[in-house]
Amino acid sequence: MLRILLALTCSCLALAAVIQPPGGVTIRAGRLIDGRGGSRQDVVVRIDGGKIARVGNASGPVTYDLSAYTLLPGFIDVHVHPLWHFGPDGRFQPGGTPEERIRGGVDNMKATVMNGFTTVQSVGEAGDIALRKKLEDETLPGPRIITSAGQINEYSGGQRGSPRQPSTPDQIREAVRNLKTSGAELIKLFASASIRDGGKQTMTEAQLQAACGEAKALGLRTLVHAHSPESIKASVLAGCTQIEHGNFATDEVLTLMAEKGVFFDPNVGLVLQNYIENKPKYLGIGNYTEEGFAAMERAIPTVIDMFKRAVKTPNLKIVYGTDAVAGAHGRNIEEAIVRVRDGGQKPMDAIVSLTSRSAESMRLQDRIGAVAPGLDADLVAVDGDPLADVTALRRVAFVMRGGTVVRSDR
Ligand SMILES: [Zn+2]
Repeated sequence: MLRILLALTCSCLALAAVIQPPGGVTIRAGRLIDGRGGSRQDVVVRIDGGKIARVGNASGPVTYDLSAYTLLPGFIDVHVHPLWHFGPDGRFQPGGTPEERIRGGVDNMKATVMNGFTTVQSVGEAGDIALRKKLEDETLPGPRIITSAGQINEYSGGQRGSPRQPSTPDQIREAVRNLKTSGAELIKLFASASIRDGGKQTMTEAQLQAACGEAKALGLRTLVHAHSPESIKASVLAGCTQIEHGNFATDEVLTLMAEKGVFFDPNVGLVLQNYIENKPKYLGIGNYTEEGFAAMERAIPTVIDMFKRAVKTPNLKIVYGTDAVAGAHGRNIEEAIVRVRDGGQKPMDAIVSLTSRSAESMRLQDRIGAVAPGLDADLVAVDGDPLADVTALRRVAFVMRGGTVVRSDR
């Protein structure tokens, strides 16, 4: 019965879209949260040519009646790994063939957009570009993908083989230029080791200045994996534009990021929890050792405490990234729920971070991240009021990306 009802609903929707007169699609929302800190009741949004044309009040019929729902801008995740997936044996498959990885990526990106995320930033590998092309060529469901197309570390651009010598600043600069040539829209670099290996600084100040200076000269943003306070400080002072993770950030470096206008992307609610939930699927691969898992378990209360201090740091621009890896795709919103429930962030602030603040961090605030005229029609409707109960963000009922309906299961 439910299936028949759903089928009927869907065909009516399709019909509604077909008979819609030229001049746009309209959506009525019971509540609108605009992504820039505003909210209001009973709104009609008009969409023309994939863009939001008008946000106001109107009576009369609409294309999509979402008066029982809350409408928000499409969600944004600034730190994902789209190609990370579990293989046929159920285990993490870092070494799959390009075809296997893209197949995993297609599934991951479908799960991501179906749960309200219309833009993701991958930090990132060359395969992202092939994945994006496949989604576009075959009009498969997925979010807009921004990618770093690779990563820089202390050996990038240097000689291969073992023992390796750390690269010179000139070699690092060349590696940055090569990434740009291969399609990087931002540069991702590692200023510190993984949390599983202690998170200590790995790139020197000279290397960081070379990477972030060269990227800036090319007009590219720089996202820096940095856990220790020393690695965060060195990255900020080298002119890098965004810090990822920051698990061991002190009040001093949180304030330094705020003063320098550096975006901060703490990942406190999904990545560590997902690894622990999926431990048998990762254990024994690379640095996913018992010691590595012990370090991640210890890190959870540490990152929650760090996040509480980050929220209280005046003018700190906190963006929304999850570090989604295999097992986490499609569950990206869990980060927001932990930030609010355990980290003390106000729901409205979490939503601004998830939308307009993250758009600003990608220099896309004129295209996405808000429900406002002139922006792309990336819209999500959820069941409930996320300002009263943040878990409402999980209950996605409708997703539109660039004016195209991706999901409608009301
Ligand atoms: Zn990552």
